[in-house]
Amino acid sequence: MPELPDVEGFRGVVAEYGTGRRITAVRVADPGVLRGVGAGELTETLTGRSFGEPERRGKWLLVPLSGPLLLLHFGMTGSMVWDTGETPPHRHDRVTFVLTNGELRYRDMRKLRGIWLAADQDAADRLLADLGPDALTVGRREFDGVTRARRQIKATLMDQSALAGLGNLLVDEICWRARIHPRRQGDRLTEAERGELYRAMRRVLRDAIPTGRVPGRRSWLTGHRDGPHPTCPRCGTALAHGRAAGRTTVWCPRCQPDPDSG
Ligand SMILES: [Zn+2]
Repeated sequence: MPELPDVEGFRGVVAEYGTGRRITAVRVADPGVLRGVGAGELTETLTGRSFGEPERRGKWLLVPLSGPLLLLHFGMTGSMVWDTGETPPHRHDRVTFVLTNGELRYRDMRKLRGIWLAADQDAADRLLADLGPDALTVGRREFDGVTRARRQIKATLMDQSALAGLGNLLVDEICWRARIHPRRQGDRLTEAERGELYRAMRRVLRDAIPTGRVPGRRSWLTGHRDGPHPTCPRCGTALAHGRAAGRTTVWCPRCQPDPDSG
């Protein structure tokens, strides 16, 4: 599932291959991913314009086009792929932006989210008005305020209107690093635990962004969680599975004690 590091990767693809390039055509293979805009309007508005410098906000990618902006969200299975134009389209390439030097392809299997067109920066800001502070740039004080909410810490960290950018893998990884059970109540964390959580988030993001995803390294929870009999890479205890914040959740019962059993 695309989370902050993945979208940073897509931002890099657009910045490297798209920025400053003119759009010569837009191919809409599946208008089912277009939100609030038709294929005709999208094509007409974009053709002849150049891609500006893309910006990421949470899990969103914003691409300015000297006036209007494209807003892209990658849902559970989306990506942004560069191709010289020689490879035949993939069957999940829903929209292709043809540039002077090749093609940027919005590829998505499940089509849970999609592509919006905002008339200007104000319209784009209105579309994203519900987003909380970005997980990559949020300061400690603001993070403390957000995570003091009286609800399970995993639910808060997953909630894009509280903190934008984190998803299921990242939140489990961060909680495991900080040795905090994902079902702990945010308002009951100690200040030391809250500091651990913040530092774990910073470290995980810093390490994940260069790889463009949440890496499945052997020293990471993410590198073990999907194995047949997964164990904690820190202490060797069998990992526990359950649900938190409505999602499949993995934790170490020894490193992250259950709030209900103590
Ligand atoms: Zn452990």
